[in-house]
Amino acid sequence: MRKQIDMLVKLQDLDLSIGEIEKTKERYPQRIEMLRKKLEEKQEITELNREKLGDLEKSRLKKERIMEHDIDNIRKSEEKLLSVKTNKEYQAALKEIAIAKESNSEKEEGILGILEEIDIQKRGLKEKEEELKTVLKEFEKEKSELAEKLKGFEKQLSEKIKSKEILFSKIDTELFKKYESIKNYRQGIAVVQAKDGFCQGCNLGIPPQLYNEVQKGTDLVFCQNCSRILYWKANDAPKS
Ligand SMILES: [Zn+2]
Repeated sequence: MRKQIDMLVKLQDLDLSIGEIEKTKERYPQRIEMLRKKLEEKQEITELNREKLGDLEKSRLKKERIMEHDIDNIRKSEEKLLSVKTNKEYQAALKEIAIAKESNSEKEEGILGILEEIDIQKRGLKEKEEELKTVLKEFEKEKSELAEKLKGFEKQLSEKIKSKEILFSKIDTELFKKYESIKNYRQGIAVVQAKDGFCQGCNLGIPPQLYNEVQKGTDLVFCQNCSRILYWKANDAPKS
């Protein structure tokens, strides 16, 4: 029986580490997804900045064209001034030119404002593009690192599963069934060490007679409290 229980302990170690690897494996795609989201957010912000810049450039061009048109009109009005006959007409034309010039200088200021805004947006865009580049690099690096780690996990997993199959073929079927059923309702731990008179699964004391039986290892002994299979591990030889 001792040999069988030793194998159960090994089986349980394998089961636990297989579970651990699988859990870790599941976290990896989540991590990648998180990084991808971060990257997409940065891409969106950069894109918005680029659009804003494009709009500003468009509005600058539009305003400049209007201004050029106005300048053209002012020039025409000034030419016309030469052919004006009466003083009244002359004064009116002068006033018209003055108003047009004033409105033009307002437009000029407006354009200067847009140019300043363009400058700010350009600088912002450059910063965001740099950030995006960094995040992209991080993403690619981490993605390939994770893929590499995942490969390692797959290898470990298949090795452990192979060892488990070998063990399984040597373990008594009835014992295995018991192990599986205890494992299912005892959070994955079916075999526990009996140490210093206590069950290491539930930490309660084991009656002396039962404790002796565990030490003998001839029969299957269950903890009376948590129902797990108890096993005895001879103390390690003292270190010299
Ligand atoms: Zn117990």
